[in-house]
Order: sequence, then C-alpha cells, then structure tokens
Amino acid sequence: MIGDQRYWNPVLEILPQEKIRKLQLKKFKRIFKWGYEKSRFHRSLYEKAGIKPDDIRSLDDIRHVPTVEKSMMRDIQRKEPFPYGDALCVPLDEVSEYHQTSGTTGQPVYQADTWQDWEWWSECWSYILWAQGYRASDRIFLPFGYNVFVAFWAAHYAAEKIGAEIVPGGVLDTQSRVLKIQEIKATAMMATPTYILGMADTAKNKMGIDPASLTISKITCAGESGASIPSTKKRMQDAWGAKVYDHAGATETGAWCYECTEQSGGLHVNDGFFLVEIQDVETGEYIQEPGKIGKMIITAFDRLAQPCIRFDSKDLIMWSPDTCPCGRSFRTIKGGVIGRADDITKVKGVLLAPSAIEEVVRGVKGLGDEFEVIVDKKADIDQITLKVELMPSSENLRDSIHAQLTDQLRLKTNLGYNIEFHDCGTLPRYEIKAKRFKDLRKKISS
Ligand SMILES: [Zn+2]
Repeated sequence: MIGDQRYWNPVLEILPQEKIRKLQLKKFKRIFKWGYEKSRFHRSLYEKAGIKPDDIRSLDDIRHVPTVEKSMMRDIQRKEPFPYGDALCVPLDEVSEYHQTSGTTGQPVYQADTWQDWEWWSECWSYILWAQGYRASDRIFLPFGYNVFVAFWAAHYAAEKIGAEIVPGGVLDTQSRVLKIQEIKATAMMATPTYILGMADTAKNKMGIDPASLTISKITCAGESGASIPSTKKRMQDAWGAKVYDHAGATETGAWCYECTEQSGGLHVNDGFFLVEIQDVETGEYIQEPGKIGKMIITAFDRLAQPCIRFDSKDLIMWSPDTCPCGRSFRTIKGGVIGRADDITKVKGVLLAPSAIEEVVRGVKGLGDEFEVIVDKKADIDQITLKVELMPSSENLRDSIHAQLTDQLRLKTNLGYNIEFHDCGTLPRYEIKAKRFKDLRKKISS
C-alpha cells in the first residue's frame, strides 16, 4: 500500500549522498546543455563567460557557470517572444501555465511552464506533502487567492496527486473560511504564517470559535520564514492545536525544500530535483560547513520552458550540522530561509536580520501576533523602533514585558530599541506576505 510508505520516493530520498552527487552532476549537465542550445539568453550569457556544456566535468566546474539574477530576468522580458523574452527554451505554443512573481518592488517577472513543467511542480510538492504526513485520507482546505501568483497552486495539484481531497477556499473572506473548515471538518490547510495567525485571531476574537477545537491537525506554511522560527511556530501550533510545517519555494525556482514530520529544526533540500549551493555574501566563497550563513544559488534540474540554472535567489540559508532522524539522505538547512540578502541591514554597524526580532517578539507572553520594526536616522544616529501590541489582559505586566523585550533583543541582536506599546488590533494586518520591517534610511538615500 502506497499510504504506508514513509517516503514519497523510497529510492531517491534515501540514496547515499555520493550517489546523489553523481546524479546531480549528470542532471546539471543536461539542463545546462538544454539552456545553451535552446535559449538565446543563456547561450549568450555562457559564451561571454567562455563556458560550454563539455566544460562541465565535475561539481566544482559548475561554479564557473554564471549566475542569473532577478533583474536580468526583467531585462530579458523586453525581448521576444512576448511576454517571457529570450530565456524561453520552448515554442510559445508549448507554454501552458503563466505565473508571475509577487515582489512588491519593480516589474514582476513572468514565469512560463509547459504541461510537463507543471507536472514537475506538483511532483516537487508531493515530496513535501508526503513528508509532512499528508495522505489520501486528508481533506485539505486551501485558503488562498487562486490568481496569478504561484503560491499554493502546485500544492493543490500535488494534493490531488497523492489522493487527498482538496477544498479550494479561493475568494472567501476569513470568517467564511473558518466556517467552511468547521462545516466540512477539514484536516489540514496551507497558508503564510501571517495568515495562519490572523485566521486564528479572527476565529477566536470575532467569531468566538477556538481554532484548536476545529479538526485541523496539520498546517503547511510558505512565503515567510515563520514556521521555522521556534516562537512563531509554537504560537501557530498552540492556536490551532495542529502540527505546523515549513517549506520553501519561489516562482522562479520551484518548491525546493521541506520540513518532515520529525520537526528536527531543519528542512530537507530536495537534492534529487535541485542543486543548492551556498555562497558567502561578502567573499563570494562557497560554503560547505554547517552553521555559516550565505545566499543560495539554485538550479532546478528538470524545469524546461524557462529554466532555473544557477539562479541567485538572495535567500539566506545555512547547512545544518545534524542529520534528520527520518532517514532521508537529502541534506538539511537549519532554520529554513533565514532572511533575504536584501533585508539584512547594518544598524549602528551591527548586522541585523529581521527574523531575529520576530523570534524574540513572538516568544514573549502577553503580546499580540503583530509587530512592526522601523529603522530611522535621528541626528545621524541609527534608531530602531519596535511597535508591539499589548494584550488587554497583560496591561499590568507592561513594565516586565518591556524589560523582557529589551533584554532578549539585546541578547539576540546586540542592539537597543525604542519599544512602543499599541492597543491590540491597531497595527497593520497582512493577508499574504507581511511587511513588518521598514528601513526609512534607504528611502532617504535612494
Ligand atoms: Zn527528516
């Protein structure tokens, strides 16, 4: 019975690493040759770098292949064929799926997929869902806007593929979604951490429904790192009485890593489908050892229409020192996607990652789920303001919460903060990706 299997792919997921590395080299050569032969953009990029498919003989040789950045994709799109441009490797007639990036700044990047690519996307997601315990008996509620963003589209098809029942919660508002979960007794759902917490808040405070009393037993997160931040994960798990799992993916890359039911603090990279490299942001060196943060360069081996070959994702990740008890041989990254290379900023000369602030705020009892961080300059001195929501029941703990926040933030980030308390429900709410970190110094300089 397939439902009894521990792994979605019982061969690939436990293949010894040396065999995986051989497979990765073979698959990299194949996709590199494909891009070189089929796309004008890739051919010209590689010719300029003086590298041809036959030059790739080892995994080290791959590092000579130039990386591709998002800004380059925007330039490509000004060329034919419309709207994808000349990174396209197949005739337009073969494109069956359109999606676009959801970034808040600049022109979106359009992403083409063939039907075969789309099958690949749902296969990537099948690894994720299976590893997180989804089976044919699940009834999965999907509270996301089915639109131009790739978000959970492929998760929808993967859920069908593994035989689960999928309930599309597209245009419903939050209250209707909670009622639908209650009505149909859904067992699982997927959303951003922000929305998972927002939904719980609506259920509890506007509808008088305790989300933990509903039938949701597992939740898969995407879009933000919350499900890998222990205090945020705990808040979500406590609110819903469910296991909460992380995964990472992007429009340009596909869904490339996933947490398993062991919840070991690491996410498995799907090494059979992707080559993940970590590069030191300052020195450009490649990082093999665990515990050192760098940006991810990623290749998707099997995506053909608009391939992802050494894409500079700007996602910050690090290798985990631990192996996961689940037995998968796929490598793990610790703490999921820690941040974006663009978001890491220097305040008073200290490197600050927004996720470190989130970990502290979500770990303090008596605060609401929302918060906001504003970095500004006053008389040439950097200032950080942290706005938090104080629960009405914790009004008498204001001073001790203030002291806890100050100590914890100093410990985790080496910086001091102006802490502002706001009433519950007054800070901005977000439905998709939250924008809680604002660096006003950047606006002034740009
Ligand atoms: Zn595992």
